[in-house]
Amino acid sequence: MPSANPPSSALDFTTFTHCINGTFLTTKTSRHGINPSNLSALPDVPVASEQDLDAAVTAARAAFKTWSKVPWEERKKALLAFNDALEEEKDDFVKLLTTEQGKPTFQAVQELEASLAFSRGVANLTIPEEIIEDSEERKIVNRYTPLGVVAGIVPWNFPNLLAMIKIAPAVITGNVIIIKPSPFTPYSGLKLVELAQKCFPPGVVQSLSGDDNLGPWITSHPGIDKISFTGSSRTGKLVAASAAKTLKRVTLELGGNDAAIICPDVDIEKVAPQIATFAFLNSGQICLCIKRIFVHKSIYRPFVDAMARHAKTFQVGDGFAADTFCGPIQNSMQYERVKGFFSEIEKEKWNVACGGQVEKTNGYFITPTIIDNPPEDARIVTEEPFGPIVPTLSWDTEEEVIERANATNMGLGASVWSKDTAKADHIARQLEAGTVWVNNHFDLSPMAPFGGFKESGLGVEMGTCGLKAMCNSQTLMINKKA
Ligand code: NAD
Repeated sequence: MPSANPPSSALDFTTFTHCINGTFLTTKTSRHGINPSNLSALPDVPVASEQDLDAAVTAARAAFKTWSKVPWEERKKALLAFNDALEEEKDDFVKLLTTEQGKPTFQAVQELEASLAFSRGVANLTIPEEIIEDSEERKIVNRYTPLGVVAGIVPWNFPNLLAMIKIAPAVITGNVIIIKPSPFTPYSGLKLVELAQKCFPPGVVQSLSGDDNLGPWITSHPGIDKISFTGSSRTGKLVAASAAKTLKRVTLELGGNDAAIICPDVDIEKVAPQIATFAFLNSGQICLCIKRIFVHKSIYRPFVDAMARHAKTFQVGDGFAADTFCGPIQNSMQYERVKGFFSEIEKEKWNVACGGQVEKTNGYFITPTIIDNPPEDARIVTEEPFGPIVPTLSWDTEEEVIERANATNMGLGASVWSKDTAKADHIARQLEAGTVWVNNHFDLSPMAPFGGFKESGLGVEMGTCGLKAMCNSQTLMINKKA
Protein backbone atom coordinates (compact mmCIF):
# COMPACT_ATOMS: atom_id res chain seq x y z
CA MET A 1 0.00 0.00 0.00
CA PRO A 2 1.80 3.18 -1.10
CA SER A 3 1.46 6.02 1.34
CA ALA A 4 0.57 9.56 0.35
CA ASN A 5 2.10 12.62 1.94
CA PRO A 6 0.65 13.79 5.22
CA PRO A 7 -1.41 16.99 4.90
CA SER A 8 0.31 20.35 5.07
CA SER A 9 -1.27 23.02 7.25
CA ALA A 10 -3.93 23.91 4.64
CA LEU A 11 -5.75 20.99 3.09
CA ASP A 12 -5.22 20.16 -0.58
CA PHE A 13 -8.62 19.70 -2.22
CA THR A 14 -7.26 18.08 -5.40
CA THR A 15 -6.07 14.72 -4.03
CA PHE A 16 -8.05 12.28 -1.91
CA THR A 17 -6.87 9.34 0.17
CA HIS A 18 -8.36 7.33 2.96
CA CYS A 19 -6.85 7.43 6.39
CA ILE A 20 -5.78 4.44 8.48
CA ASN A 21 -4.04 5.01 11.81
CA GLY A 22 -3.19 8.63 10.97
CA THR A 23 -1.59 7.66 7.64
CA PHE A 24 -2.98 8.81 4.29
CA LEU A 25 -3.17 5.91 1.90
CA THR A 26 -4.05 5.15 -1.68
CA THR A 27 -4.71 1.67 -3.06
CA LYS A 28 -3.53 -0.26 -6.16
CA THR A 29 -6.97 0.07 -7.72
CA SER A 30 -8.93 3.27 -7.63
CA ARG A 31 -12.28 4.66 -8.70
CA HIS A 32 -13.76 8.12 -9.07
CA GLY A 33 -17.00 10.07 -8.65
CA ILE A 34 -18.85 12.07 -11.30
CA ASN A 35 -19.82 15.74 -11.16
CA PRO A 36 -23.60 15.38 -11.65
CA SER A 37 -23.95 18.85 -13.24
CA ASN A 38 -21.73 18.09 -16.25
CA LEU A 39 -20.85 14.37 -15.91
CA SER A 40 -17.11 15.11 -15.77
CA ALA A 41 -14.86 12.69 -13.88
CA LEU A 42 -13.72 13.77 -10.42
CA PRO A 43 -10.35 12.79 -8.83
CA ASP A 44 -9.44 9.18 -8.05
CA VAL A 45 -10.18 7.73 -4.63
CA PRO A 46 -8.98 4.45 -3.10
CA VAL A 47 -10.86 1.15 -3.22
CA ALA A 48 -10.32 -0.49 0.17
CA SER A 49 -9.62 -4.23 0.43
CA GLU A 50 -10.59 -6.48 3.33
CA GLN A 51 -6.97 -6.16 4.50
CA ASP A 52 -7.37 -2.37 4.64
CA LEU A 53 -10.48 -2.82 6.77
CA ASP A 54 -8.61 -5.22 9.08
CA ALA A 55 -5.80 -2.66 9.42
CA ALA A 56 -8.26 0.12 10.29
CA VAL A 57 -10.03 -2.06 12.85
CA THR A 58 -6.73 -3.09 14.48
CA ALA A 59 -5.66 0.57 14.71
CA ALA A 60 -9.09 1.54 16.03
CA ARG A 61 -9.00 -1.10 18.79
CA ALA A 62 -5.55 0.08 19.88
CA ALA A 63 -6.63 3.75 19.83
CA PHE A 64 -9.78 2.96 21.80
CA LYS A 65 -7.72 1.71 24.75
CA THR A 66 -6.26 5.16 25.33
CA TRP A 67 -8.93 7.47 23.86
CA SER A 68 -11.67 5.97 26.06
CA LYS A 69 -9.58 6.94 29.13
CA VAL A 70 -8.97 10.54 28.03
CA PRO A 71 -11.10 12.76 30.32
CA TRP A 72 -14.38 14.04 28.82
CA GLU A 73 -13.16 17.67 29.03
CA GLU A 74 -10.05 16.83 26.95
CA ARG A 75 -12.14 15.02 24.36
CA LYS A 76 -14.43 18.05 24.24
CA LYS A 77 -11.40 20.33 23.60
CA ALA A 78 -10.31 18.09 20.71
CA LEU A 79 -13.81 18.15 19.20
CA LEU A 80 -14.01 21.94 19.48
CA ALA A 81 -10.56 22.24 17.85
CA PHE A 82 -11.86 20.06 15.00
CA ASN A 83 -14.85 22.37 14.74
CA ASP A 84 -12.56 25.43 14.53
CA ALA A 85 -10.40 23.72 11.90
CA LEU A 86 -13.48 23.00 9.78
CA GLU A 87 -14.64 26.58 10.11
CA GLU A 88 -11.26 27.76 8.77
CA GLU A 89 -11.55 25.54 5.70
CA LYS A 90 -15.30 26.07 5.27
CA ASP A 91 -15.19 27.76 1.86
CA ASP A 92 -13.22 24.92 0.25
CA PHE A 93 -15.53 22.32 1.83
CA VAL A 94 -18.51 24.23 0.38
CA LYS A 95 -17.01 24.15 -3.13
CA LEU A 96 -16.17 20.46 -2.77
CA LEU A 97 -19.73 19.69 -1.71
CA THR A 98 -21.31 21.48 -4.68
CA THR A 99 -18.84 19.80 -7.02
CA GLU A 100 -19.48 16.24 -5.88
CA GLN A 101 -23.08 16.40 -4.65
CA GLY A 102 -24.50 19.01 -7.05
CA LYS A 103 -26.38 21.07 -4.47
CA PRO A 104 -26.45 24.87 -4.99
CA THR A 105 -23.77 26.84 -3.19
CA PHE A 106 -26.22 28.42 -0.72
CA GLN A 107 -27.43 24.95 0.31
CA ALA A 108 -23.83 23.70 0.56
CA VAL A 109 -23.14 26.65 2.88
CA GLN A 110 -26.19 25.62 4.96
CA GLU A 111 -24.86 22.05 5.16
CA LEU A 112 -21.45 23.23 6.40
CA GLU A 113 -23.09 25.58 8.89
CA ALA A 114 -25.20 22.69 10.15
CA SER A 115 -22.06 20.50 10.50
CA LEU A 116 -20.46 23.25 12.58
CA ALA A 117 -23.57 23.89 14.69
CA PHE A 118 -24.17 20.19 15.32
CA SER A 119 -20.59 19.36 16.29
CA ARG A 120 -20.47 22.42 18.57
CA GLY A 121 -23.83 21.44 20.07
CA VAL A 122 -22.68 17.88 20.71
CA ALA A 123 -19.43 19.14 22.29
CA ASN A 124 -21.55 20.93 24.88
CA LEU A 125 -23.63 17.90 25.82
CA THR A 126 -22.82 15.61 28.75
CA ILE A 127 -24.26 12.42 30.17
CA PRO A 128 -24.06 12.89 33.93
CA GLU A 129 -24.04 9.79 36.15
CA GLU A 130 -27.45 9.22 37.70
CA ILE A 131 -27.69 8.30 41.38
CA ILE A 132 -30.64 5.97 41.60
CA GLU A 133 -30.32 5.21 45.31
CA ASP A 134 -28.00 6.43 48.05
CA SER A 135 -29.19 4.86 51.29
CA GLU A 136 -27.41 3.57 54.39
CA GLU A 137 -27.24 0.10 52.83
CA ARG A 138 -26.18 0.80 49.30
CA LYS A 139 -25.50 3.22 46.48
CA ILE A 140 -26.81 2.57 42.97
CA VAL A 141 -25.32 4.56 40.11
CA ASN A 142 -26.19 4.46 36.41
CA ARG A 143 -23.34 5.49 34.11
CA TYR A 144 -22.51 5.25 30.41
CA THR A 145 -19.35 3.71 28.99
CA PRO A 146 -18.19 3.88 25.36
CA LEU A 147 -18.96 0.90 23.12
CA GLY A 148 -15.59 0.71 21.32
CA VAL A 149 -15.19 0.84 17.54
CA VAL A 150 -18.03 2.56 15.67
CA ALA A 151 -18.43 2.43 11.89
CA GLY A 152 -20.29 5.36 10.33
CA ILE A 153 -21.90 4.49 6.98
CA VAL A 154 -22.97 7.65 5.13
CA PRO A 155 -25.28 8.27 2.12
CA TRP A 156 -24.73 10.67 -0.79
CA ASN A 157 -27.25 13.45 -0.05
CA PHE A 158 -25.46 15.14 2.91
CA PRO A 159 -21.88 13.78 2.70
CA ASN A 160 -20.40 16.33 5.11
CA LEU A 161 -23.14 16.78 7.72
CA LEU A 162 -24.03 13.11 8.02
CA ALA A 163 -20.36 12.14 8.53
CA MET A 164 -20.01 14.86 11.19
CA ILE A 165 -23.22 13.77 12.97
CA LYS A 166 -21.56 10.38 13.48
CA ILE A 167 -18.02 11.55 14.30
CA ALA A 168 -18.94 14.12 17.00
CA PRO A 169 -21.06 11.91 19.32
CA ALA A 170 -18.67 8.96 18.85
CA VAL A 171 -15.52 10.80 19.88
CA ILE A 172 -16.99 12.88 22.72
CA THR A 173 -18.24 9.68 24.40
CA GLY A 174 -14.79 8.02 24.12
CA ASN A 175 -15.45 5.80 21.11
CA VAL A 176 -13.32 5.65 18.00
CA ILE A 177 -14.86 5.75 14.52
CA ILE A 178 -14.28 4.62 10.95
CA ILE A 179 -16.21 6.65 8.36
CA LYS A 180 -17.32 5.01 5.11
CA PRO A 181 -18.65 7.63 2.69
CA SER A 182 -20.98 6.72 -0.17
CA PRO A 183 -19.08 5.63 -3.30
CA PHE A 184 -21.14 8.30 -5.16
CA THR A 185 -19.85 11.14 -2.92
CA PRO A 186 -16.60 10.03 -1.27
CA TYR A 187 -14.75 13.36 -1.28
CA SER A 188 -16.30 15.41 1.54
CA GLY A 189 -16.12 12.54 4.05
CA LEU A 190 -12.50 11.67 3.17
CA LYS A 191 -11.39 15.31 3.47
CA LEU A 192 -13.26 15.75 6.75
CA VAL A 193 -11.45 12.75 8.23
CA GLU A 194 -8.13 14.07 6.85
CA LEU A 195 -8.81 17.33 8.69
CA ALA A 196 -9.64 15.40 11.87
CA GLN A 197 -6.06 14.06 12.00
CA LYS A 198 -4.94 17.54 13.12
CA CYS A 199 -7.09 17.27 16.24
CA PHE A 200 -7.29 13.60 17.28
CA PRO A 201 -4.64 10.92 17.93
CA PRO A 202 -4.04 8.32 15.18
CA GLY A 203 -6.75 5.65 14.95
CA VAL A 204 -9.48 7.72 16.66
CA VAL A 205 -11.08 9.01 13.44
CA GLN A 206 -10.35 6.97 10.31
CA SER A 207 -11.88 6.66 6.85
CA LEU A 208 -12.16 3.94 4.26
CA SER A 209 -13.15 4.55 0.67
CA GLY A 210 -14.41 1.57 -1.27
CA ASP A 211 -16.86 0.03 -3.65
CA ASP A 212 -20.09 -1.85 -2.95
CA ASN A 213 -18.19 -4.64 -1.12
CA LEU A 214 -17.01 -2.43 1.70
CA GLY A 215 -20.34 -1.87 3.48
CA PRO A 216 -21.11 -5.60 3.93
CA TRP A 217 -17.49 -6.27 5.05
CA ILE A 218 -17.89 -3.58 7.71
CA THR A 219 -21.28 -4.74 9.01
CA SER A 220 -20.02 -8.32 9.39
CA HIS A 221 -16.57 -7.49 10.87
CA PRO A 222 -16.20 -8.98 14.37
CA GLY A 223 -13.91 -6.16 15.51
CA ILE A 224 -16.56 -3.46 15.07
CA ASP A 225 -18.94 -2.82 17.96
CA LYS A 226 -21.52 -0.47 16.47
CA ILE A 227 -22.87 0.52 13.09
CA SER A 228 -24.27 4.03 12.79
CA PHE A 229 -26.01 3.86 9.43
CA THR A 230 -27.85 6.47 7.37
CA GLY A 231 -29.38 5.41 4.06
CA SER A 232 -32.34 3.67 2.50
CA SER A 233 -34.72 1.39 4.41
CA ARG A 234 -33.85 -1.44 2.02
CA THR A 235 -30.13 -1.25 2.87
CA GLY A 236 -30.94 -0.62 6.54
CA LYS A 237 -32.58 -4.05 6.75
CA LEU A 238 -29.47 -5.67 5.22
CA VAL A 239 -27.29 -3.82 7.75
CA ALA A 240 -29.46 -4.99 10.67
CA ALA A 241 -29.41 -8.60 9.44
CA SER A 242 -25.64 -8.60 8.99
CA ALA A 243 -24.95 -6.86 12.32
CA ALA A 244 -27.19 -9.34 14.15
CA LYS A 245 -24.65 -12.12 13.58
CA THR A 246 -22.21 -10.47 16.00
CA LEU A 247 -24.89 -8.57 17.95
CA LYS A 248 -23.35 -5.25 17.00
CA ARG A 249 -25.29 -2.26 18.20
CA VAL A 250 -27.04 -0.44 15.35
CA THR A 251 -28.59 2.94 14.84
CA LEU A 252 -30.49 3.14 11.57
CA GLU A 253 -31.57 6.49 10.07
CA LEU A 254 -33.59 5.48 7.01
CA GLY A 255 -35.99 6.70 4.35
CA GLY A 256 -39.08 8.84 4.78
CA ASN A 257 -42.41 9.64 3.15
CA ASP A 258 -43.22 12.78 5.12
CA ALA A 259 -46.77 14.12 5.10
CA ALA A 260 -47.64 17.82 5.43
CA ILE A 261 -51.21 18.52 6.52
CA ILE A 262 -52.46 21.93 5.41
CA CYS A 263 -55.45 23.13 7.45
CA PRO A 264 -58.17 25.39 5.93
CA ASP A 265 -57.18 28.49 7.95
CA VAL A 266 -53.61 28.95 6.59
CA ASP A 267 -52.43 32.11 4.84
CA ILE A 268 -52.12 30.55 1.37
CA GLU A 269 -49.69 33.09 -0.09
CA LYS A 270 -47.36 32.64 2.90
CA VAL A 271 -47.55 28.88 3.43
CA ALA A 272 -47.69 27.53 -0.16
CA PRO A 273 -44.16 28.80 -1.02
CA GLN A 274 -42.82 27.28 2.21
CA ILE A 275 -44.34 23.89 1.37
CA ALA A 276 -42.89 24.04 -2.16
CA THR A 277 -39.47 24.87 -0.69
CA PHE A 278 -39.53 21.96 1.76
CA ALA A 279 -40.61 19.60 -1.06
CA PHE A 280 -37.91 20.65 -3.54
CA LEU A 281 -34.94 21.52 -1.32
CA ASN A 282 -31.84 19.62 -2.52
CA SER A 283 -34.03 18.65 -5.52
CA GLY A 284 -36.15 16.47 -3.24
CA GLN A 285 -33.14 14.39 -2.19
CA ILE A 286 -33.59 14.75 1.57
CA CYS A 287 -34.99 12.09 3.87
CA LEU A 288 -37.05 14.88 5.48
CA CYS A 289 -38.38 16.53 2.31
CA ILE A 290 -42.16 16.86 2.29
CA LYS A 291 -43.26 13.94 0.10
CA ARG A 292 -47.09 13.92 0.49
CA ILE A 293 -49.00 17.22 0.69
CA PHE A 294 -52.53 16.94 2.13
CA VAL A 295 -54.44 20.19 1.47
CA HIS A 296 -57.92 20.83 2.92
CA LYS A 297 -60.53 20.59 0.15
CA SER A 298 -61.86 24.12 0.87
CA ILE A 299 -58.54 25.70 -0.22
CA TYR A 300 -57.17 22.89 -2.41
CA ARG A 301 -57.22 24.65 -5.79
CA PRO A 302 -55.84 28.08 -4.77
CA PHE A 303 -53.22 26.41 -2.56
CA VAL A 304 -51.94 24.07 -5.28
CA ASP A 305 -51.93 26.95 -7.78
CA ALA A 306 -49.86 29.09 -5.37
CA MET A 307 -47.43 26.22 -4.79
CA ALA A 308 -47.07 25.66 -8.54
CA ARG A 309 -46.48 29.39 -9.16
CA HIS A 310 -43.70 29.34 -6.61
CA ALA A 311 -42.15 26.06 -7.82
CA LYS A 312 -41.96 27.52 -11.35
CA THR A 313 -39.59 30.21 -10.01
CA PHE A 314 -37.06 27.58 -8.88
CA GLN A 315 -34.12 27.72 -11.29
CA VAL A 316 -32.73 24.31 -12.24
CA GLY A 317 -29.03 24.17 -13.05
CA ASP A 318 -25.41 23.87 -12.00
CA GLY A 319 -25.05 24.45 -8.27
CA PHE A 320 -22.32 27.04 -8.89
CA ALA A 321 -24.71 29.34 -10.85
CA ALA A 322 -25.87 32.16 -8.58
CA ASP A 323 -29.62 31.75 -9.17
CA THR A 324 -29.84 27.92 -8.96
CA PHE A 325 -32.34 26.52 -6.46
CA CYS A 326 -32.52 22.93 -7.79
CA GLY A 327 -29.23 21.27 -8.65
CA PRO A 328 -29.01 17.91 -10.42
CA ILE A 329 -29.98 14.48 -9.15
CA GLN A 330 -26.76 13.23 -7.60
CA ASN A 331 -26.11 10.05 -9.59
CA SER A 332 -27.20 8.07 -12.64
CA MET A 333 -28.84 5.31 -10.61
CA GLN A 334 -31.08 7.80 -8.76
CA TYR A 335 -31.69 9.79 -11.97
CA GLU A 336 -33.03 6.66 -13.68
CA ARG A 337 -35.22 5.85 -10.66
CA VAL A 338 -36.74 9.36 -10.55
CA LYS A 339 -37.26 9.33 -14.34
CA GLY A 340 -39.34 6.18 -13.77
CA PHE A 341 -41.93 8.32 -11.96
CA PHE A 342 -42.01 10.78 -14.89
CA SER A 343 -42.58 7.97 -17.37
CA GLU A 344 -45.76 7.09 -15.43
CA ILE A 345 -47.30 10.59 -15.77
CA GLU A 346 -48.77 9.93 -19.20
CA LYS A 347 -49.42 6.23 -18.69
CA GLU A 348 -51.32 6.75 -15.43
CA LYS A 349 -52.98 9.99 -16.68
CA TRP A 350 -51.76 11.99 -13.67
CA ASN A 351 -52.58 15.72 -13.73
CA VAL A 352 -49.50 17.93 -13.54
CA ALA A 353 -49.75 21.28 -11.70
CA CYS A 354 -46.23 22.28 -12.78
CA GLY A 355 -43.16 20.71 -14.34
CA GLY A 356 -43.48 17.23 -15.79
CA GLN A 357 -40.26 17.25 -17.81
CA VAL A 358 -36.79 15.86 -17.46
CA GLU A 359 -34.33 18.50 -18.74
CA LYS A 360 -32.40 17.57 -21.88
CA THR A 361 -28.93 18.66 -20.81
CA ASN A 362 -25.54 17.18 -20.11
CA GLY A 363 -26.33 16.63 -16.42
CA TYR A 364 -28.86 14.87 -14.24
CA PHE A 365 -31.40 17.76 -14.18
CA ILE A 366 -35.14 17.40 -13.55
CA THR A 367 -37.77 20.20 -13.36
CA PRO A 368 -39.67 20.45 -10.03
CA THR A 369 -43.00 18.71 -10.60
CA ILE A 370 -46.29 18.64 -8.69
CA ILE A 371 -48.70 15.78 -9.38
CA ASP A 372 -52.24 17.08 -8.75
CA ASN A 373 -54.45 14.68 -6.77
CA PRO A 374 -53.23 11.25 -7.97
CA PRO A 375 -54.94 8.09 -6.63
CA GLU A 376 -53.95 7.29 -3.05
CA ASP A 377 -52.41 3.96 -4.13
CA ALA A 378 -50.26 5.53 -6.90
CA ARG A 379 -46.53 4.86 -6.60
CA ILE A 380 -45.90 8.61 -6.31
CA VAL A 381 -47.89 8.55 -3.02
CA THR A 382 -46.81 5.23 -1.55
CA GLU A 383 -43.07 5.34 -2.39
CA GLU A 384 -40.23 7.75 -1.63
CA PRO A 385 -39.15 9.12 -5.05
CA PHE A 386 -36.15 11.00 -3.58
CA GLY A 387 -36.28 13.54 -6.39
CA PRO A 388 -38.16 16.75 -7.36
CA ILE A 389 -41.62 15.24 -7.84
CA VAL A 390 -44.36 15.42 -5.21
CA PRO A 391 -48.13 14.68 -5.01
CA THR A 392 -50.83 17.00 -3.60
CA LEU A 393 -53.93 15.33 -2.14
CA SER A 394 -57.22 16.76 -0.94
CA TRP A 395 -58.70 16.05 2.54
CA ASP A 396 -62.00 16.61 4.27
CA THR A 397 -62.12 15.55 7.96
CA GLU A 398 -59.38 15.62 10.57
CA GLU A 399 -59.84 11.97 11.46
CA GLU A 400 -59.57 10.92 7.81
CA VAL A 401 -56.41 12.91 7.07
CA ILE A 402 -54.63 11.58 10.17
CA GLU A 403 -55.42 8.04 9.08
CA ARG A 404 -54.21 8.70 5.52
CA ALA A 405 -51.01 10.42 6.71
CA ASN A 406 -50.27 7.39 8.93
CA ALA A 407 -51.10 4.82 6.21
CA THR A 408 -47.45 4.16 5.30
CA ASN A 409 -44.66 1.91 6.54
CA MET A 410 -42.46 5.04 6.85
CA GLY A 411 -42.45 7.37 9.85
CA LEU A 412 -39.59 9.85 9.70
CA GLY A 413 -41.12 13.34 9.78
CA ALA A 414 -44.49 15.07 9.35
CA SER A 415 -45.90 18.58 9.71
CA VAL A 416 -49.20 20.33 10.40
CA TRP A 417 -49.85 23.86 9.16
CA SER A 418 -52.50 26.06 10.79
CA LYS A 419 -52.92 29.46 12.45
CA ASP A 420 -54.58 27.57 15.32
CA THR A 421 -51.49 26.05 16.94
CA ALA A 422 -53.51 24.24 19.63
CA LYS A 423 -55.55 22.46 16.96
CA ALA A 424 -52.39 21.71 14.95
CA ASP A 425 -50.68 20.36 18.09
CA HIS A 426 -53.69 18.07 18.65
CA ILE A 427 -53.29 16.65 15.11
CA ALA A 428 -49.47 16.52 15.38
CA ARG A 429 -49.60 14.27 18.44
CA GLN A 430 -51.57 11.68 16.48
CA LEU A 431 -49.04 11.39 13.66
CA GLU A 432 -46.73 8.37 13.56
CA ALA A 433 -43.36 10.02 12.89
CA GLY A 434 -40.10 10.58 14.78
CA THR A 435 -40.23 14.36 14.34
CA VAL A 436 -43.47 16.31 13.89
CA TRP A 437 -43.48 20.05 13.29
CA VAL A 438 -46.23 22.62 13.59
CA ASN A 439 -45.87 25.39 10.96
CA ASN A 440 -42.39 24.23 9.97
CA HIS A 441 -40.53 21.23 8.53
CA PHE A 442 -36.88 20.02 8.48
CA ASP A 443 -35.87 22.19 11.44
CA LEU A 444 -33.48 20.14 13.61
CA SER A 445 -31.51 20.78 16.80
CA PRO A 446 -28.33 19.06 18.02
CA MET A 447 -30.02 19.00 21.44
CA ALA A 448 -33.11 17.06 20.26
CA PRO A 449 -33.17 13.33 19.45
CA PHE A 450 -33.79 12.49 15.79
CA GLY A 451 -35.00 9.13 14.47
CA GLY A 452 -37.78 7.35 12.66
CA PHE A 453 -40.87 5.31 13.51
CA LYS A 454 -41.60 2.06 11.66
CA GLU A 455 -39.30 1.37 8.66
CA SER A 456 -37.78 4.86 8.85
CA GLY A 457 -35.30 3.82 11.48
CA LEU A 458 -34.16 2.20 14.66
CA GLY A 459 -32.85 4.26 17.58
CA VAL A 460 -31.96 7.94 17.50
CA GLU A 461 -29.06 10.27 16.79
CA MET A 462 -28.45 13.64 18.45
CA GLY A 463 -29.33 15.00 21.87
CA THR A 464 -28.24 13.12 24.99
CA CYS A 465 -30.23 10.10 23.71
CA GLY A 466 -27.90 10.11 20.69
CA LEU A 467 -24.84 10.13 22.96
CA LYS A 468 -26.26 7.26 25.02
CA ALA A 469 -26.73 5.30 21.77
CA MET A 470 -22.91 5.34 21.47
CA CYS A 471 -22.59 3.80 24.97
CA ASN A 472 -23.26 0.81 27.18
CA SER A 473 -25.49 1.48 30.15
CA GLN A 474 -23.74 0.30 33.32
CA THR A 475 -25.34 0.00 36.74
CA LEU A 476 -22.95 0.15 39.70
CA MET A 477 -24.31 -1.24 42.99
CA ILE A 478 -22.16 -0.54 46.01
CA ASN A 479 -23.01 -2.46 49.20
CA LYS A 480 -22.03 -0.11 52.04
CA LYS A 481 -22.32 -2.85 54.70
CA ALA A 482 -19.16 -4.71 53.74
P1 NAD B 1 -28.14 3.54 0.38
O1 NAD B 1 -28.85 2.74 1.40
O2 NAD B 1 -28.10 3.04 -1.01
O3 NAD B 1 -26.61 3.77 0.79
C1 NAD B 1 -26.23 4.33 2.03
C2 NAD B 1 -24.85 3.86 2.39
O4 NAD B 1 -24.87 2.44 2.61
C3 NAD B 1 -23.78 4.09 1.32
O5 NAD B 1 -22.56 4.45 1.96
C4 NAD B 1 -23.65 2.71 0.68
O6 NAD B 1 -22.39 2.49 0.07
C5 NAD B 1 -23.84 1.81 1.87
N1 NAD B 1 -24.31 0.45 1.56
C6 NAD B 1 -24.94 0.01 0.46
N2 NAD B 1 -25.23 -1.31 0.57
C7 NAD B 1 -24.76 -1.71 1.78
C8 NAD B 1 -24.77 -2.94 2.49
N3 NAD B 1 -25.32 -4.05 1.98
N4 NAD B 1 -24.22 -2.98 3.71
C9 NAD B 1 -23.69 -1.87 4.27
N5 NAD B 1 -23.63 -0.67 3.65
C10 NAD B 1 -24.17 -0.58 2.42
O7 NAD B 1 -28.79 5.00 0.46
P2 NAD B 1 -28.49 6.25 -0.46
O8 NAD B 1 -29.12 5.99 -1.80
O9 NAD B 1 -27.04 6.59 -0.39
O10 NAD B 1 -29.30 7.40 0.31
C11 NAD B 1 -30.65 7.69 0.06
C12 NAD B 1 -31.54 7.12 1.16
O11 NAD B 1 -31.07 7.51 2.44
C13 NAD B 1 -32.97 7.64 1.08
O12 NAD B 1 -33.88 6.59 1.31
C14 NAD B 1 -33.05 8.66 2.21
O13 NAD B 1 -34.35 8.89 2.71
C15 NAD B 1 -32.15 8.03 3.22
N6 NAD B 1 -31.63 9.02 4.16
C16 NAD B 1 -32.06 8.98 5.46
C17 NAD B 1 -31.63 9.94 6.36
C18 NAD B 1 -32.09 9.93 7.80
O14 NAD B 1 -31.48 10.61 8.61
N7 NAD B 1 -33.12 9.19 8.15
C19 NAD B 1 -30.76 10.95 5.94
C20 NAD B 1 -30.34 10.95 4.62
C21 NAD B 1 -30.78 9.98 3.73
